[in-house]
This record gives sequence, structure tokens and C-alpha cells, in this order.
Amino acid sequence: MSWLTHEVNNQVPDLGDYNLYASDTALQEGVLREGAQAHRESLLHYGARLGQKEIFALGHDANRYRPELETHDRQGHRVDRVRFHPAWHRCMRMAFLQGMHSGAWSSPGAGAQVARAAAYLMHGQVEAGSLCPITMTFAAIPVLQKEDWFASVSTPLYSLQYDEHDVPLSRKTSMMVGMGMTEKQGGSDLRGTTTRAEPLGQPGRGQTYRLVGHKWFFSSPMSDAHLVLARHGETYSCFYVPRWLDDGSKNPVHIQRLKNKLGNASNASVEVEFHDATGVLVGEEGRGIPTLVEMASYTRLDCVLGSTALLRQAVVQALHHARYRVAFGEPLIRQPLMQSVLMDLVLESEAATALALRLARAFDPSDDVLDQAYRRILTPAAKFWVCKRTIEAVAECMEVWGGNGYIEDGPMARLYREAPVNSIWEGSGNVMCLDGLRALKRHPDLAQTLLASLEQDCVDEPIPRERLGQLKSLLASSGADLEAAARHIVQELVLLVQAGLLRRHAPQGVADSFMQTRYAGRGGRLYGLVSSPSALNSVLERAWPI
Ligand SMILES: Cc1cc2nc3c(=O)[nH]c(=O)nc-3n(C[C@H](O)[C@H](O)[C@H](O)COP(=O)(O)OP(=O)(O)OC[C@H]3O[C@@H](n4cnc5c(N)ncnc54)[C@H](O)[C@@H]3O)c2cc1C
Repeated sequence: MSWLTHEVNNQVPDLGDYNLYASDTALQEGVLREGAQAHRESLLHYGARLGQKEIFALGHDANRYRPELETHDRQGHRVDRVRFHPAWHRCMRMAFLQGMHSGAWSSPGAGAQVARAAAYLMHGQVEAGSLCPITMTFAAIPVLQKEDWFASVSTPLYSLQYDEHDVPLSRKTSMMVGMGMTEKQGGSDLRGTTTRAEPLGQPGRGQTYRLVGHKWFFSSPMSDAHLVLARHGETYSCFYVPRWLDDGSKNPVHIQRLKNKLGNASNASVEVEFHDATGVLVGEEGRGIPTLVEMASYTRLDCVLGSTALLRQAVVQALHHARYRVAFGEPLIRQPLMQSVLMDLVLESEAATALALRLARAFDPSDDVLDQAYRRILTPAAKFWVCKRTIEAVAECMEVWGGNGYIEDGPMARLYREAPVNSIWEGSGNVMCLDGLRALKRHPDLAQTLLASLEQDCVDEPIPRERLGQLKSLLASSGADLEAAARHIVQELVLLVQAGLLRRHAPQGVADSFMQTRYAGRGGRLYGLVSSPSALNSVLERAWPI
């Protein structure tokens, strides 16, 4: 006798076997607009590969089977090694083959950063943790390129063949570089750094030092080197600290423990101690903080890209679910209140994508002052805004899935746990707002150019024009008042930039809806508070044409 109590119905099929590039109209248009159309074929290919169900499953496994720390081998020798699931290595291999860690530096030129950004925007939808080592290696290269000895590492840095072996660099095809700044007492104010460096011989750039101290967060510990901030006398310098030394021994960088993280589970982050570790001084002596802040400008760009990727995947999953799932006799996507929510989320995603790609273009070689303004002012501003908005948006997308969204078997729980990290690391929200403010004040020429471009964008739009006027008045203040208003200032700045980009480049329905929801006065503190504007169907269709 069969005990069939029910049939399974109204459950939504897994999303998969779709092309992440071909299905993303805003991404394709952005790539074309920002000068990377020559990379279209490669992006189409990568989008198809990433979209396979098998690759989504890899992303799931890489996060389910977390990295494991081995401090010692069987005989008791220190090994300070982290073991990863094979799925992690496959995700890393794909990212390397696409050149996301180095291609924009080995073959720079118009569109290189944008093409890289587009690949990143897709990879981050399937497996976000593997982007951490990719980002740090990418960000270290322009810093290392300025060193006399760069040629000794350029070949493995530019190689597209991911090499996971834990052996000296001379025996590897490729390499990765991480960064170590944050200590127990604080990561925002680096002047508290306690790790000490003493020269072994002559002090100065390119010279060898001994490092004693610790780092409280040290991601990608299997990297072949880290750029580490350490105190030398009364100043701070940046040091290249390799994993293995030239004589074939391990550099004494001892892993204390793995961080037990909320999300970002596939990627290992550890605490380390330097026990007379060897490091080579990088950049100008005593200018370690500016050297690492330069590196951080690239990692901050990637935080914007990473959050935009999570946002896009969450929105796509929400739209897919809402098309299939029926409640009260109708698919969710046809129910007016759900439409208001989905519409708002789609607009956030498209605005983030447009901004991310425009920002990436500003990192391509350019003398244009507006590009410089984007790099210096909008990088921290966009990091603040896009990363924060993504946290809320992913939670809403999860709720579109109802209870199924909360369950670890599906994709939404992982997206949700992944979302906050981009807002915290590489400079948390407030620090980004203060940095954006500092850039506006310290570089009046860049601020002027950026504000003038915004003025042009909203010449025929009274409300944004008024908000721009208010923003300028706020910027005229100083001291504690100005600092206290930093979040508001950055919010207003980014919204104006996003509105300008959408009004110039997106279909009228998208641009009008963005203006209505962000500027018509009823926009609220949550997604979906404004009734969905009239362009609803075309906007939703554009976001998810499959
Ligand atoms: C998963 C993960 C991986 C990481 N990997 C690395 C790594 O590989 N290398 C590395 O060096 N670091 C790494 N970090 C550390 C990260 O960069 C820091 O956590 C971050 O910079 C914040 O530093 P903190 O934790 O010491 O917070 P704090 O500096 O104590 O700041 C706490 C809060 O105060 C705010 N704040 C600080 N100053 C001000 C101010 N003047 N006004 C108003 N608010 C302020 C900050 O915005 C933050 O919200 C990682 C962090 C995480 C979560």
C-alpha cells in the first residue's frame, strides 16, 4: 500500500543553464557604452559557462564545505596551511582563466577595466568568496609595478593558470597576493599599527626587514605573498611578505586560527603572527599607509562590483520565483503590491550596474578630470551606497521567496549572509563617507567638475536640481556639522549620479521610474513603498527577459 500523502506542486524549478551575460540587458548596454565591446564574445562565453547548473552547484559546495586549517603536519612541523574543497579550486581556476586578477594590467587600454568589471559582475553572482583573492591580487599589481624588482614576479602575476600548490614561487606557474593591515586594536585607524619592522641591513625601499607582530584579519592566507603594514621607528611602511623564502623555507607567518565568519564561507580569513618574518619594503619608506590606500582604491571598486553582482543575482532569483509561484490564484509577479516591490528592486539593480560600469571605466587609463573625480570621490561614495543598499535589497529578495528563501538548500540564504561583508571590509560605511567628504574638500577641482556634470544632468528636472542645490549648501559647511552629515551627503551624491546615468542611457521607462521612486517625495525607507510606476511591464521584462 502506498502512503502518498500529497503531490509536490507550486514549487519553483532551480534557475540554471542560462547565460548571465545574454540575459542581462543593462550589463550588455553598459559594456558597450563604457568602451568594452571588443570583449563581448569573451563575456558571452563566460556568462554561458557561469550560468550552467553545474557551476551554480560548485558555488554551493565551495561554501558548504568550508576551508580547514592545518597548523602542523603529522610529525609536528608547522605547515600553516588551509585546505579547500575542490569546488573552490575550480571557481578560482575559472576566475584566473578569465584574467580577472591581472588582465587589466597585463593588457591595459580602453575597455580593459570595464571588461574585467563585467566578468566580475557575473562571477560574483555564482561564487563570491573566490573574488577575494582575485581582488587583492588585482589591487596589489599596480603597487608592485612601481618596484624595481617587479620583473621577478610579473610572469606568475600575469599568468592565467591558477596554481593551488603550496610550494616556493620558483616552482609555481602563477601567484596570488593578499593584504594585511587590520590588527586587534583597529582597522580603520591604521596609525595604531603595532607590528614592527627592523631592517636586516640598509633600510629603505627594496631592502629586507624582519617583522614581529600580528594581523587580526588576514584573508586569502594561501596567497604567495601579502602586502603588510608595519611600524618602523615613528613611521609606517608597506612590506611584501612572501609565504616561502628564497632558500626554500617557509616564512614564519604563523596562522593562529581561522575566522568563523557569518558569510563569505568559501574564502578563508585567518589571524596571523609574524615571528621574525621576512619582508621587503614596498613604496616609499614611511609612506606605507598611502601605499596601501592606493591598493584599497582598487579593492573598494571591487566591493562595489561584488555587491552589484549579489544584488543582480538576488533580483533575478526573486523575479524567477515570482513568475512561477502562485498565491491566491495568481503568480506573485502579477500581484500589484509584489510588483511595487520587484520594480523597486529592479531599479536598484540597474542603477547599481550603470554606476559600477561607469566607475570601472574611470579606472581605465585616462587624463579626463571627470574620470579622476569618479575614481577619487565616487569610489568611496559608491562603496558606501551600493554595499548598504544591497544588504537591504537581498533581504527583500529573500522574502519574495517566502520561507523557502530562508532555507540553506536554496541560493537566497547564502546571498543574504554574503551581502554585509562588502560594506565592512576595505573601509566600513562611515569611513567611506568621511573619505568621500575628504576627497570633495581636498580636491576642489575634481568636486567642481563632478558637481558641474550633475548640474547638466538635472537641468530640466526641478526636484533633483533642488537637491543638488541643497547638497552644495551642505558642502559649504565645515567641522562637526559637515562630518555628522556625511552619510546624507554621500547618499545624495550617489543618487544624483545614478539618476543622471539612467536618464542619459536607460530606456525612458526605467529612468522615469527611478525618478518617481527616488525623487517623487513618497520614496520611503523600505523597498516597494511607492506604487509601481506605469512602465512596470517593460522594466521587469528588461530585467529578466528569460
Ligand atoms: C571577512 C573579513 C575579511 C577581512 N580581511 C581582511 C584582510 O585580508 N586584510 C585586512 O587588513 N583586513 C581585513 N578585514 C578587516 C576589515 O578591513 C576591517 O574589519 C575594517 O576595515 C574595519 O576595521 P575594524 O574591524 O577594526 O573596525 P573599527 O576600525 O573599530 O571601526 C568600527 C566602526 O566604527 C566606524 N568608524 C571608524 N572611524 C570612525 C569615525 N571617525 N567616525 C565614525 N565612524 C567611524 C567604522 O566605519 C566601523 O563601522 C576583513 C574583515 C572581514 C569582516
